[in-house]
Amino acid sequence: MISRMVLATLALLVPAAAIGEIPAPMAWNAKTLWDAWPTTRVSPPDPWALKHAGLRVALDQLNTRHPGLFSIVEEGLSSEGRKIPLLRVGSGPTDILLWSQMHGDEPSATLALMDVLNWLGTNQRDPVVQQLLSKLTLWIVPMLNPDGAERTQRWNAQEIDINRDALRLSTPEGRFLKAIRDRVKPVIGYNLHNQTPNLQAGKGGSQVAMALLSVPGDEAFSETPGTRQTKRLAVKVQQLVNTLVAGRVSRYDTDYTARAFGDSMTRWGTATLLIESGGWAGAEEAERLVRLNFVALLGSLSAIADGSIEQVKVQDYALIPMNHRDALTTLLVRNARLAGGRGLPPFTADLSFIVPGPFVGDALHYKEPAVVEVGDLSYAKGLTEVDATGMLAVPWPTAVPPEDWSSLKASLAARGLAEVNEAKLVATVHTLGESAVAKPGYTGAVLLYRTSGTGPLTLEGAVLRGKVVGIPVIHVSTEATGTPP
Ligand SMILES: [Zn+2]
Repeated sequence: MISRMVLATLALLVPAAAIGEIPAPMAWNAKTLWDAWPTTRVSPPDPWALKHAGLRVALDQLNTRHPGLFSIVEEGLSSEGRKIPLLRVGSGPTDILLWSQMHGDEPSATLALMDVLNWLGTNQRDPVVQQLLSKLTLWIVPMLNPDGAERTQRWNAQEIDINRDALRLSTPEGRFLKAIRDRVKPVIGYNLHNQTPNLQAGKGGSQVAMALLSVPGDEAFSETPGTRQTKRLAVKVQQLVNTLVAGRVSRYDTDYTARAFGDSMTRWGTATLLIESGGWAGAEEAERLVRLNFVALLGSLSAIADGSIEQVKVQDYALIPMNHRDALTTLLVRNARLAGGRGLPPFTADLSFIVPGPFVGDALHYKEPAVVEVGDLSYAKGLTEVDATGMLAVPWPTAVPPEDWSSLKASLAARGLAEVNEAKLVATVHTLGESAVAKPGYTGAVLLYRTSGTGPLTLEGAVLRGKVVGIPVIHVSTEATGTPP
């Protein structure tokens, strides 16, 4: 027997359901989805290891495990003849098109889509899943650029950026996506990418885990019913992510780009939400980004299906902080005295380093760990930092393959450089010429010597391949390594 008070409370919680009617299904919250992912995921641990063949095997397995959940309604052909499946899931009146990995080296969302399919299949008796599949029809193109994925590169096999081919349509992948759009005329599009991990959510903010854009359909960023809906979706995704870890969502910074697909989709009448996976420094970073995509996709799609998206305030979109570029780096060595090479006398400098990830993205194109900048970097932030106050830093090119710290220390000791006076050290570095100059692009080691009064310098640590050895690092912000509850 349910008391009147409980009924009244229920009525408050579920305003859409009148007492006596079957209550509307309760949407999943972000935490439920986050917690469900480890037992739901079918995606492999390394997103960049998933290629076209692996994707096809995974889709076959999902189809066998959940017969009837989805159908492959059509297959496009990549430039090199790989078949690109178009999946249809659900039978609802609202058509939504999701495509991932049009940049071949941006796989996070492809894996999340596989996990989403397994979730929908596993929970087909869940009223929320039933509602989603009866209200929506999802048209999914996972890995639009399989030739690029094969090479872990942004471009397709013609070396064209498919996301700049929406007007000319020189790429078969772009023509396939355009043909789907023209035939289905989806009301909403999800354009799924990865951005460089070294961005902050607003000036001085946390590392961006996910950037969002209500993609404009014209130069003026005119607001239409469609862009209002994608703004609501962006806010919804921000709310979902903030439940797990606050301050890691930004707005993607871009101009209107007529030849880009997202912009063209919006202009053609399919209002498009751009989701860019970013970075989330710490253990299992790549998997946590897939997991975050899983939450963002299921949470926002179910909000469309149950109508709750209409309650989200469009104006909150403007409150999402912008992507902030050029101030976040992998490692920052602060306040060193730097004997930068060329026999110049030491000067005070900060040094920033980047350790590139497995994809190029649209920002810095470093292939291996390198110095990015030398000078006053007090405005910048490192995912890890070293306070080198009282230390002399000197560049020291390392052997290829690079030595480890103990063998490097031993070889320096053998040369009389473990304890050494400053003039001798600077002169020794000078003999190495231009290979020992700390400058943007420098990939060798940087040795860190402790100075004490007029005594000799003592070798204490080094930066080797963008990693600090021998001395403690500071993980600058708790949010840089923070994990959700
Ligand atoms: Zn991209």
